[in-house]
Amino acid sequence: MDTIVLKFGGSSVADNEKLKIVAGKITQLYDKNNNIIVVVSAQGKTTDRLIREAEELSQNPKLREMDVLLSSGEQMSTAKLSILLNDMGYPSISLTGWQAGILTNNTNQNALIKNIDVSRIKQELDQRKIVIIAGFQGVNENMDITTFGRGGSDTTAVAIAAAIKAKNCYIFSDVDGIYTVDPNKMDNAEKLPALSYEEMLELSSEGAKVLHGRCVEIAEKFKIPIITKSTFNHKAGSVISDIIEEDTIKSVVKKEVSRLSIVGSGIIRNTNAIKKVLSLIEKYQLEMLEFQVSESKISITFKQEIDNRLVKEIHDKVIKKEAKV
Ligand code: ASP
Ligand code: MG
Repeated sequence: MDTIVLKFGGSSVADNEKLKIVAGKITQLYDKNNNIIVVVSAQGKTTDRLIREAEELSQNPKLREMDVLLSSGEQMSTAKLSILLNDMGYPSISLTGWQAGILTNNTNQNALIKNIDVSRIKQELDQRKIVIIAGFQGVNENMDITTFGRGGSDTTAVAIAAAIKAKNCYIFSDVDGIYTVDPNKMDNAEKLPALSYEEMLELSSEGAKVLHGRCVEIAEKFKIPIITKSTFNHKAGSVISDIIEEDTIKSVVKKEVSRLSIVGSGIIRNTNAIKKVLSLIEKYQLEMLEFQVSESKISITFKQEIDNRLVKEIHDKVIKKEAKV
């Protein structure tokens, strides 16, 4: 029997109707004879609301208390999902971060995972229960609650997958994968079927917000394939895993207003692509402060704001024709 980890983001668990869709995905995979661990985020914009409400009470709330407050958002999601699954006849149990054995250091609001004691999770899986774990939290050595920073539920999911040696880790959200360019900004963006850990790390560090950067580092370290998929359609997602050798250019990301990065393994050897990028920059008469090429990334910092037409041309002429795997 395979163990798989499924993570659902805040928009996927935002209300009861959405929880029913999520439950449908979970039960389908459970019925295929898998052991299922689910990690959930707080519902919708709950975390933002809790932060706002705390700030209305104090300009300077203690970080320890913020962690107690924010971790409650994820806990609500676990309980609701478990109530629903049990009602549907599927045995399920909700666990907070500490009940799931997640031990962290003492850095409130940005804690690092030190160790995961998976015995409780295993015990529940052995009874064929669906184990639902609150994302983005653990406890420190004093048994005080800690959280992992915004977007940290992805990190919970991959860390649990690593600790339990799961087959893979699905990250479900409202976007169905990783794209050649931000699909909200360009309508001919294409979904990438596969990326390497390294490429995904570069994209995350350049501001692509699809995954918490730390979760990709853990996935790479423990060789856990991450599959990003949409909760709301059945389309294939993007798989992030080890790719031994490949030289397609994957994606262009704009960070802030004047930094642009083009990511793809082996880009350093692709002189055609480098020349093309340079000639497009010349065409738009942009002044560069920095042009850096590494094994899998070209990054450019400009003196002025980037013209979006440049991003589009780089996408259409350098990336899109190569992005097919
Ligand atoms: N609820 C937290 C946040 O909004 C953690 C997460 O969703 O991953 O940042
Ligand atoms: Mg997220």
